[in-house]
Amino acid sequence: MSLDHLMNVYGRLTVGFVSGHGVWLTGDDGREYLDAISGIGVCSLGHGHPELAEAIADQAGKLIHTSNIPRIPLQEQLADRLAEISGLERAFFTNSGAEAMECAVKLARLYHWRRGRENIDILVAKGSFHGRTLACISATDNLKSQEGFGPIVGGFVPVEFGDLNAIEQALKANPNIGAVMLEPIQGEGGINVPALGFLKSLRELCDRHEVLLVLDEVQSGICKTGRWFAFQHEDMKPDILTCAKALGNGVPIGACLATEQVAEAFQPGNHGSTFGGNPLACRAGLTVLDIMAREDTAGQAAANGDAFHAMLQERLAGHPAVSEIRGRGLMVGIELIADCPEIKAMAMDLGVLLNVTRGRVIRLLPPLVISHEELQTLATVVADCVDHWHTARAA
Ligand SMILES: *Cc1c(COP(=O)(O)O)cnc(C)c1O
Repeated sequence: MSLDHLMNVYGRLTVGFVSGHGVWLTGDDGREYLDAISGIGVCSLGHGHPELAEAIADQAGKLIHTSNIPRIPLQEQLADRLAEISGLERAFFTNSGAEAMECAVKLARLYHWRRGRENIDILVAKGSFHGRTLACISATDNLKSQEGFGPIVGGFVPVEFGDLNAIEQALKANPNIGAVMLEPIQGEGGINVPALGFLKSLRELCDRHEVLLVLDEVQSGICKTGRWFAFQHEDMKPDILTCAKALGNGVPIGACLATEQVAEAFQPGNHGSTFGGNPLACRAGLTVLDIMAREDTAGQAAANGDAFHAMLQERLAGHPAVSEIRGRGLMVGIELIADCPEIKAMAMDLGVLLNVTRGRVIRLLPPLVISHEELQTLATVVADCVDHWHTARAA
């Protein structure tokens, strides 16, 4: 067993994990780690969830896959549920976030094409991350992710994130723009949270300019911010919405949702997927949503987020190494004053798995079911790491 036959695209930790329970992972080094990244915002119900495990096993014994040639009752049920919680009537199911975004881009383009507008441009945000397919790496200003993969997909115009004025100027300057596409809270970009009111104003702006509003909630969606979707903190609704990560708690599934009026553009033959929305994935998605609705996981995330924020403030407010603590619900970022790749290993030593994004932002996406005591452990370890990092840097 080695890395010799794997394509070398990840800088991996040396540890591997053999099992998990709740927020805890057991490493092949025999140690237990508190998982503060949840498989990158995926395992919101924690690891080894008995009800989910049973549903998956039951479904695997009945029917895993059929393709989309026949009707798939579980897929129809999941689409009903997603329509209910999002207010967007139609769903297309995928196996990943990037595929959900591809679907969103294709749908936005086709919507305008059916109205006689070809080759529209799509306004995207600087610092955005939408996935690793060619269209997704094109829909950002991140040159690092595009380098070597040219020609990139055309038609994406980046503007400052969260800056309504910049968006309005861009819309005025470029009448070819047909959609604005962004994350309501940027994840990979450093947990960037726009001011409350931004989305509602953006909605009004898009309506005035007759452009579609596409929200990427692949990371922020499914309860993480304290609502089913982050856009629901404001009185507005997008035309197209994507989700994925936490929808299956680790079983690969994503969805592109759209309003009836926009989804209408898709007709048989316009789009498809062999695996997308298969019975196994949809059973997992349905089970996740059932559990979350029953246990008010969104409410838990909101309360946990508030408690955690207070714990972090208590230890880190005014800390000379910290430039900002931000987030919503249990989507939390702690920005340090300089790049801090060392923090990951420091936290591992102290039994916590976390992630650093955009060089200097400690990103915490713990399972939403984390207990108060576990949050306290996490806050203590993170604060100790920041102290340690700061001391080592000063030395
Ligand atoms: C992770 C992520 C994606 C891509 O999802 P994959 O499942 O990795 O393809 C897209 N958008 C956002 C906001 C993400 O965080």
